[in-house]
Amino acid sequence: MPIVIAIDGPAAAGKGTLARRLAAELGLPYLDTGLLYRAVGRRVLDGGGDPRDPAAAEAAARALDPSDLARDDLRGPEADAASSAVAAIPGVRSALFDFQRNFATLAGAVLDGRDIGTVIFPDASAKLFVTASPSERARRRWLELRGKGADAEVATVERELRDRDARDAARATAPLRPAEDAIEIDTSDLDAEAAFQAALAAVRRRLG
Ligand code: C5P
Repeated sequence: MPIVIAIDGPAAAGKGTLARRLAAELGLPYLDTGLLYRAVGRRVLDGGGDPRDPAAAEAAARALDPSDLARDDLRGPEADAASSAVAAIPGVRSALFDFQRNFATLAGAVLDGRDIGTVIFPDASAKLFVTASPSERARRRWLELRGKGADAEVATVERELRDRDARDAARATAPLRPAEDAIEIDTSDLDAEAAFQAALAAVRRRLG
């Protein structure tokens, strides 16, 4: 199997930034798997449906087109909630399984999400579980939202993150949790550069 790096962790822990930089450094394609669930949630909302409705969500997952991942409305509180709702539906997860496996077939990949190391690539070459304290994650997400001109309260951002993590960790299928062989990196006290160096060193150790 080509090199596959699995990066999981709770919302806004900095997985995306890390994964993108690792992919560039190692010359691997990068897939943000959260976008798949976000795009499914959006499709359901577009059709006037309820993201918690298994029939509507599964139909949206089966109809997903790669161009959906380039939509510009996949971020923000509404998309966050819709993605986490559709992600709890087993039929949605199985509809997205092959796309994620196939993405890495040709040239390997770095993928980030919630179940990459546990379900999608239990056979990954290296697995990281990236975390940070809820208050630090909320602070970073709040800064990001403010940077985009959104008018958000940090307490609201933290409550929404905690709710989403709780839902992602409590679901029966592919819950958010570290794989047994994942290396945990807590970025609470690390800036982006230090987090990247820690992740790169951990991956290099695993790759040998
Ligand atoms: O990573 P991101 O925050 O964009 O993910 C949005 C939502 O998609 C998560 O809260 C989670 O419910 C779901 N997700 C998932 N499995 C993945 C990636 C994302 O369940 N591999």
